[in-house]
Amino acid sequence: MRKPIVVGNWKLNGSSADNESLVLGVIDGMRELNGVDVGVCPPFVYLPQVEKLAEATDLGLGAQNCSEHDSGAFTGEVAPRMLHDIGARYVILGHSERRAMYGETDEMVSDKVKAALSAGLTPILCVGETLEQREADETEAVVRQQLAAVISGNGIQAFEHIVIAYEPVWAIGTGRTASPEQAQEVHAFIRGQLADHDANVAQSVRIQYGGSMKPGNAAELLAQPDIDGGLIGGASLKSEDFLGICRAAADTVG
Ligand code: PEP
Repeated sequence: MRKPIVVGNWKLNGSSADNESLVLGVIDGMRELNGVDVGVCPPFVYLPQVEKLAEATDLGLGAQNCSEHDSGAFTGEVAPRMLHDIGARYVILGHSERRAMYGETDEMVSDKVKAALSAGLTPILCVGETLEQREADETEAVVRQQLAAVISGNGIQAFEHIVIAYEPVWAIGTGRTASPEQAQEVHAFIRGQLADHDANVAQSVRIQYGGSMKPGNAAELLAQPDIDGGLIGGASLKSEDFLGICRAAADTVG
């Protein structure tokens, strides 16, 4: 049985005051939650604030990106060892917004995964197709290629320490969610790709769904056999919405 994992991606949102009420609300609601890993990924500058608020709780802390480098002349970058140093557990890598807007290639994502793993972080590796690619029937080819780069750069055993997020780009921030059947189909495909290398790793890896997941659609998505949680954008900015999804994930555990 894979433990569900729900992580909030705050993107470029937040302020000291808003973060405090959001995080305290999430922590409060988490008291009634069992059997689910919950995390939040604020912008870099707010990580220490959230780390302090979440101290001695089960709320996991994550970043939204990191450098593939450990140190050196890389102005504006943040090394994964620095994230680990300030208490982060997760780092989102290869988010479609970074691939599309900041030119991150599959190879760069693979290098970042390697750096994050060496620093002791759990990468949340995002994969997913654009609407154009889905309509051209290229979903599997795109996802296969995104995974293959990370498998060839890190080896299949690395996936024992990676969480995958399947995020169809056309469903991110659009209000348009993949149907449970559409999502399940790709999640099963992802697991199958890993199983071609190692069946045990494939069975144990957790695969989140991301793309307009909300309290109202979370239960049916999370009921799918290969959907093990959610990566949540918009709905992670309100504690009640985020907790509604976390509760739906906890309900799948029974
Ligand atoms: C995301 O950006 O990872 C995401 C899933 O966003 P949203 O929930 O807003 O679609």
